[in-house]
Amino acid sequence: MLAHEIRARVARGEVSPLEVAQAYLKRVQELDPSLGAFLSLNERLLQEAEGVDPRLPLAGLVVAVKDNIATRGLRTTAGSRLLENFVPPYEATAVARLRALGALVLGKTNLDEFGMGSSTEHSAFFPTKNPFDPHRVPGGSSGGSAAALAADLAPLALGSDTGGSVRQPAAFCGVYGLKPTYGRVSRFGLIAYASSLDQIGPMARSVRDLALLMDAVAGPDPLDATSLDLPPRFQEALEGPLPPLRLGVVREALAGNSPGVERALEEALEVFRGLGLSLREVSWPSLPQALAAYYILAPAEASSNLARYDGTLYGVRAEGEEVEGVRQATRARFGLEVKRRVLVGTFVLSSGYYEAYYGRAQAFRRRLKAEARALFQEVDLLLLPTTPHPAFPFGARRDPLSMYREDLYTVGANLAGLPALSFPAGFEGHLPVGLQLLAPWGEDERLLRAALAFEEATDRAFLRAPLGEAF
Ligand code: GLN
Repeated sequence: MLAHEIRARVARGEVSPLEVAQAYLKRVQELDPSLGAFLSLNERLLQEAEGVDPRLPLAGLVVAVKDNIATRGLRTTAGSRLLENFVPPYEATAVARLRALGALVLGKTNLDEFGMGSSTEHSAFFPTKNPFDPHRVPGGSSGGSAAALAADLAPLALGSDTGGSVRQPAAFCGVYGLKPTYGRVSRFGLIAYASSLDQIGPMARSVRDLALLMDAVAGPDPLDATSLDLPPRFQEALEGPLPPLRLGVVREALAGNSPGVERALEEALEVFRGLGLSLREVSWPSLPQALAAYYILAPAEASSNLARYDGTLYGVRAEGEEVEGVRQATRARFGLEVKRRVLVGTFVLSSGYYEAYYGRAQAFRRRLKAEARALFQEVDLLLLPTTPHPAFPFGARRDPLSMYREDLYTVGANLAGLPALSFPAGFEGHLPVGLQLLAPWGEDERLLRAALAFEEATDRAFLRAPLGEAF
């Protein structure tokens, strides 16, 4: 059952918040040992569920929260050995808002260490399996949240997206994922990877469920100076007819896709045409280079953000001689990919190379953004695949560059600060295919309106529950 349907049943008194929590907990205990979506469960869940006021708007809903989002009193590891035993004394704003509305944290989901990866294979603990195929990755870095939704271990989830980490796993697992406009969701309590790109994003199994989540978590927050003063109007935006929007298909994302992705794109265009949208092909010329700029800027910011894990203030402290020895022994516990990013980031920021790499990538970022702004004079939405192909097998992206290439179509929205939504739009064999819509800055609601029209026109044909449902 979808989250908004559960909520309606709770509101009618047909099921209690405790019964919902029990059903999901039981399902997690049965299925998660073979999936590996969760790193920790909320041990107080049932007690908390007993105390929920069923009149609250999100009463009865349990949420799977990516483990780089701080939960007070509940272990938060960011998928890293460095934070293996970290129990935050504070709560992320997004989580605090969900709790205030009656939702409960079911558990914390697996991810690539600090969000660095596209498969969960870089988790320091274990990889998560794709519920559609146990030999394949669920995507990443929010792979645990996406797999939990696909297996209906939770009706709602939070992820985070720095270069695609909400949208790519959503596509690989056949669910919805939104990367909001930068600043629409507070980053307070999100463990920083690349602060100018990071956004917490909702993930769910329907557009209405995403809207429910966004209305709860979005909006200005005094604890995050970059949060925007834009009140969320997601559920409201789903009412009324679909306006006759102009949809631009991004030319630079049309070649090199797998047959299932191509087919999904063609079929989606037919559906959108049928819904009264006008279609045209448009060019976002800098998009193909966005990946190169991202893999300079994100490591640069990461190298600065991760400097704090030196064994003195946060997380694990390893034994060592003097301060420098402690620092080295502690940092030795970072995984390989994290070390690689810190090295690259330190290099591109070092004197003599700063202008050649970091400076040029920043200038490129401004150009990419300006091109997008110009494009949105001509069209109201952009459409492109979320990924060039569906989920790949474990171990298939051992070369770091081949893993980075997974993010080809997703990093553009982060660099430009724009909202982007991945929605289920087809299958290639037994594997889900996702497509992506982008909207102008601050027009996140428009993405959901268009995706809802698609969902209704296709009669939820692309929503499957490969392992059955909790309800
Ligand atoms: N795969 C990308 C990276 O490794 C994006 C990750 C993310 O969005 N957190 O940087």
